Amino acid sequence: MAPKTPKSASKSSSAPEVTPPPPGETTTVITATTTLDLPAHPKTLTYEELNPKSKPTEFFGPLGTFAVSSLCPTVAYFLYYGCNETTGCPAMTANGWRTIYDRVANNDWPSQAGKWWDWQAAGAFMAWYVYCIVCWIVLPVQPVEGTLLRDGKRKKYWMNGHYTVLLTLGLVAGFLMRPGGIEAFTWIYDKWVPLVSASLAMAFVQACWVYVWSFFSGELLAQGGNSGNVVYDWFIGRPLNPTFPGFPNFDIKTFNEVRPGIIGWLLLNISCACEQYVRLGRLTNSMVLALLFEVYYVIDTYLDESAILNQIDITTDGFGFMLAFGDLVWLPFTYGVSIRYLAFAPKDLSPLAVVAILAVEGAGLYIFRTSNSEKHDIRHGRNPKNLTFMQTKRGTKLLTSGWWGRSRHPNYFGDWLIALGWCLPTGFDTPITYFYVVFLVFLLTCRQMRDDEFCRKKYGDDWDKYIKLVPYKIIPYVY
Ligand code: NDP
Repeated sequence: MAPKTPKSASKSSSAPEVTPPPPGETTTVITATTTLDLPAHPKTLTYEELNPKSKPTEFFGPLGTFAVSSLCPTVAYFLYYGCNETTGCPAMTANGWRTIYDRVANNDWPSQAGKWWDWQAAGAFMAWYVYCIVCWIVLPVQPVEGTLLRDGKRKKYWMNGHYTVLLTLGLVAGFLMRPGGIEAFTWIYDKWVPLVSASLAMAFVQACWVYVWSFFSGELLAQGGNSGNVVYDWFIGRPLNPTFPGFPNFDIKTFNEVRPGIIGWLLLNISCACEQYVRLGRLTNSMVLALLFEVYYVIDTYLDESAILNQIDITTDGFGFMLAFGDLVWLPFTYGVSIRYLAFAPKDLSPLAVVAILAVEGAGLYIFRTSNSEKHDIRHGRNPKNLTFMQTKRGTKLLTSGWWGRSRHPNYFGDWLIALGWCLPTGFDTPITYFYVVFLVFLLTCRQMRDDEFCRKKYGDDWDKYIKLVPYKIIPYVY
């Protein structure tokens, strides 16, 4: 006889549907009951709840940030005054340093390149910045959504940096091909320090502006930049994604990160190469190598411009003096010190040296690109190499094989090798041209520690498990 369905088991009943057992058998029904107190509408967080106060812990607090914001500009100037055609690289005698000090203090540098300030250079820098904004507005754009923000929104970014680079390189090529174009382009090299000063002034103004505006704009704040200490928050960056009133799509942070500074660096490098050409009548193989490496690094940024939206600078850091200075002064004026050196101290490398330098750079590029694309793939739901991973409670996957199984930041290792390849063409006559490599060791080690800390907060005990599986921090099997 077919079992009957009890009348009580209607769909509207809260009790589960029960099928009676066949005669002679007993069935026990266990009903789990749970109560969920869901609010009628998700609670909207207030501004204060979204932007809790933070502690000024990074860079040893307010005093540390004050020291860094004074020291870094000093280093940017020092790299010029300590390494140039007038006083050497570096000036090896006490007398040499005395001369530098006197000339700098009295603003009495023999060439325009070492003057503190020059209105022409300031005007040129402003024109360059405006040109970058105009390119951003008028060139075709690809809108890309950024990471999910704490307020549940995503920002839309206009990506068209690759068109800006192409247009700029096209204009520069046209300029250089004109009679006298190469000589004229050395103008940038000849205004080195005034351009540093103009960029520094811009970074300072931007940092002040975004700090003040963040009190009125209602914009989301960076979780680490809301300590209440003026110097600390101004340096670390109070607003997460500052904009300009009336231009909600103009994200000052991403714009600075991938436009005026990094493309400006390209122009500085080209100008240095022009300087060498004007002096020698040719380019040395060391200059060609260093130039190709650095130009490629810039172009590589634009092969997948949207990848920057996953970087800590964009997702987590606020925008303040640290990033404004880093983007506008530090990157363009200190990363290419080796090329500036080669402009006035040309060097011809042996074929063996060329091969060795190419090998270092090639290895760096390979590790940098492969590791970044392995991470990019897994973050976009792809796994073409069938790499092993850890599924975390947070919902995302952590790779445990491939480059990310060898160390927790293999991309930093690749980056460092790339940087070494930029410096090696200068030979071993001076330590100053190795400044960038040494600095990068410091930067990437600090960054790795910060990211480890962020990941521990994000992933909890999953991160501890991951660290056991991948114990090396940056250099596989070494550190
Ligand atoms: P990463 O690109 O290395 O990103 C770190 C994030 O990756 C973590 O927060 C985590 O975020 C995710 N992650 C960590 N481990 C794994 C894993 N095993 N599998 C998958 N995802 C993982 O850091 P940065 O943003 O610092 O650097 C970006 C690039 O920029 C790097 O290539 C770096 O070398 C370069 N860079 C260059 C500088 C220079 O001046 N030359 C300065 C700074 C950076 P989540 O899990 O939330 O996705």
